[in-house]
Amino acid sequence: MTQKNPTKKIVIIGAGWSGLSAACYLANSSNKVSIYESSKQLGGRARSVEINGNSVDNGQHLLIGAYQETLKLLQLISANTNQLLLRQNLVLNMFSPNKEKFSLKTYNIASPFHLLLGLLFCSNLTISQKYKIIYFSIKLSSKTLLNKNDISVLKLLKSYKQPNDLIKLLWEPLCIATLNTPIEFASAKVFVNVLKKSLLGSKQDSDFLFTIKNLSAILPKPAELFLQQHNANIETSSRATEIIINNNSIAGVIVNNKLISTKKLILAIPPYACEKLLSKHSELAILTKQLSIFEYQPICTIYLQYPSDITLNQAMIGVWDTTVQWLFDRGVANQHGLIAAIISTHGTHMEMDNDTLIEKVQSEIALLFPNWPAPLHANIIREKRATFTCKVNISTSRPTNATTITGLYLAGDYTATDLPATIEGAIISGKIAATEINHSNKE
Ligand SMILES: Cc1cc2nc3c(=O)[nH]c(=O)nc-3n(C[C@H](O)[C@H](O)[C@H](O)COP(=O)(O)OP(=O)(O)OC[C@H]3O[C@@H](n4cnc5c(N)ncnc54)[C@H](O)[C@@H]3O)c2cc1C
Repeated sequence: MTQKNPTKKIVIIGAGWSGLSAACYLANSSNKVSIYESSKQLGGRARSVEINGNSVDNGQHLLIGAYQETLKLLQLISANTNQLLLRQNLVLNMFSPNKEKFSLKTYNIASPFHLLLGLLFCSNLTISQKYKIIYFSIKLSSKTLLNKNDISVLKLLKSYKQPNDLIKLLWEPLCIATLNTPIEFASAKVFVNVLKKSLLGSKQDSDFLFTIKNLSAILPKPAELFLQQHNANIETSSRATEIIINNNSIAGVIVNNKLISTKKLILAIPPYACEKLLSKHSELAILTKQLSIFEYQPICTIYLQYPSDITLNQAMIGVWDTTVQWLFDRGVANQHGLIAAIISTHGTHMEMDNDTLIEKVQSEIALLFPNWPAPLHANIIREKRATFTCKVNISTSRPTNATTITGLYLAGDYTATDLPATIEGAIISGKIAATEINHSNKE
């Protein structure tokens, strides 16, 4: 039996960063907002978890200066970014176990010279490789780089004469880091867009923003406070199981067996969760089919606690010819000796049990840093559906925020932005959903 609740003005299902973004913008424009989250805490995939009494992130995240909507939202909710994020010039230091090295950094001068100077002084690239990067970067800005059809990142790089060594050294790690999708089938359209917004944007856009507090402290906690101050209703451990549609308009949603009546509903949940709620409704068959096309890529974060004097001497390094792709030094967040090792996308590591994978990662780190002692302890967080697969032609499957049902909106990193699955994409998506509702309120 379902019991009736008083009508709530705007209901949001899911309190990941897209749901929180929508909630904050709606609450800020004086709407009555209720947000329901199935798990015990806010933040979705970008949240912190407790392991062995240590607060770590559900997966190490990196923000960049181009995340302008993220920074705007943090400002709106009075989150002090200086205490949450460490802004540094882009520095890509890549190492291999056989001591090969590649370093690229930007300089504090106007774009594109910040990058050009970096390339000029990059000692580990040949003149020919530097020329190829500059040639590709110039082509990136031209409208003719890609015709209407999307192709794979690998195909694009080959067609612009990028040699295999440069692809392996630079473009492949960048593609995996930004799209979390193998270069052979990653979308060139999305990749080009990311490069244009970051590397080829302003100097500030290419900066790295390292998290110096845990993820929950960065957005979910300040957002919760902001929402409470704006009289929003936030309920955790509250799962939506059904949506109610009447005459092609949203009428409510069932949460924990209770009917929540509403005429405005945002589903800020991932495509697979959304599909479950929509599949019963024949009027949403096209959207349900669209959502079923999404595939997912994993990200493994291996946290290794070394003695507190162990450090990378920089916030992050890249690694190649290894299973591990990136190492982050959590010393920047006062977690001295804690190293987060990242492995993106699918691979044989996903078939290894935790002990075997930890041993492998540990031995790779030992090759890079032979003087380091063994870690004191290590843990793995495997997110099997960390991001959607950003494959060729993905933009044709990404739904808009508004749906064909009056009052029903979607939000999430997968909706029709031109970004891969990122917190910036999630925040933009939530803001668009909020803006569309605000517009519809005026009609
Ligand atoms: C390991 C890892 C590393 C990443 N690294 C980066 C990075 O470096 N930089 C970057 O920008 N992005 C990164 N991302 C991606 C980023 O975390 C996501 O793009 C973003 O958090 C997605 O937010 P969202 O609101 O769209 O979805 P989610 O975070 O998935 O939020 C959806 C919420 O809905 C809830 N929910 C689901 N079903 C229901 C239901 N039926 N009822 C109620 N609630 C429900 C879920 O519990 C969840 O809280 C990473 C992701 C992972 C997992």
